[in-house]
Amino acid sequence: MSDNQTMPNYAQMAYFPWQSSVWQKLYSNKFSNKMEINHFPHALLLAGVAGIGKKELAFYLAKGLLCQSPQENPKTGQIEPCQSCRACQLFNSATHPDFNHITTPEDKKVIPVDTIRELIQWSVLSSQLGGKKIILIEPAEAMNPNASNSLLKTLEEPVANTIIILLTNKKQALLPTIRSRCQSIDLALPDKQIALQWLEDSLLQTSLFNSEEGTSENAQLLLSLASGTPLLALELSHGKQLEVRNTVIKKLLSIMNDSVDPVRIAEDFFKQTKIKLTKSKSKNQQLPISAYDVIYWTDSIVSDLARLAQNCERDTISNIDLYETLKQLSNRLYLKKILQLSDLINKAYYEIQGQININLLFEKLLIDWKNCKQ
Ligand SMILES: [Zn+2]
Repeated sequence: MSDNQTMPNYAQMAYFPWQSSVWQKLYSNKFSNKMEINHFPHALLLAGVAGIGKKELAFYLAKGLLCQSPQENPKTGQIEPCQSCRACQLFNSATHPDFNHITTPEDKKVIPVDTIRELIQWSVLSSQLGGKKIILIEPAEAMNPNASNSLLKTLEEPVANTIIILLTNKKQALLPTIRSRCQSIDLALPDKQIALQWLEDSLLQTSLFNSEEGTSENAQLLLSLASGTPLLALELSHGKQLEVRNTVIKKLLSIMNDSVDPVRIAEDFFKQTKIKLTKSKSKNQQLPISAYDVIYWTDSIVSDLARLAQNCERDTISNIDLYETLKQLSNRLYLKKILQLSDLINKAYYEIQGQININLLFEKLLIDWKNCKQ
């Protein structure tokens, strides 16, 4: 999996079916009679886990706030941007002069202070189309401390005519003073049935699942693997992520069931991470797997086993297709060691971002994995 930024398609951004009530609250109710844009909060913080469509919602909201004649959408019965006024057209072509989307530069992980300073200079200019100016910053937690402090001044003394929308996956990572200066909306995990229906429809639109047979089961598994977040579930269905998961899990189980040497498996995984790193074009049949993949799927299995070992129900685990196997395995493990391994995995997520011997890390993880067995 990746957290690569892709250039958003402005025209296609819209809220998702599970965001219908939040759209109503944020926008539709406010704009149902007259333009009430002056009553809109000057700073809004949308918070929630990754993969639930915050960005799409925020872009559509920005378009709605810029739209010159919001109208009822006959399909949804809600007030939405008209899609045809000059503001909507400019927005759809990603050229609206009064919209400023700030995100991390392609090669960096932080939003630097200079970007925020330029933004503040931009925010005091008058609007080109005579309406509001909208700033969207995502992810807000990517602002470095100087950038955060610089933005804070603007939040404390709001610029007339400018609305700032912040998105975050990690609300607690933001400065408390930033959080308190914004109207905060916490976006919950989507309703499961609505998310499943959307996911099934999306899967049917892809070439991978061109018949309805098995789509429902696939959607359930994907949503479960993605911890209930539909966009991550859809991402899992693309590319080779399920294959990667199956490979990692198969090897983990081989250590437990067939007593395969964990050091050998660690070496296999290590070789597979090299395929990706060197972008080798040889006819190597092995699947490229990143260190993150190995840790992520080990984490997924270990978390499920910890739940099952504590007698949690089937629907609390992620790898629902492996329920029977995992349930049986959970009876043969030391719970205490499983929980210790879980701590080690949490550290490993950080360690792989730095300079570390990945092969040794895998060895340690897998030896500890084996030692969970009674
Ligand atoms: Zn419009």
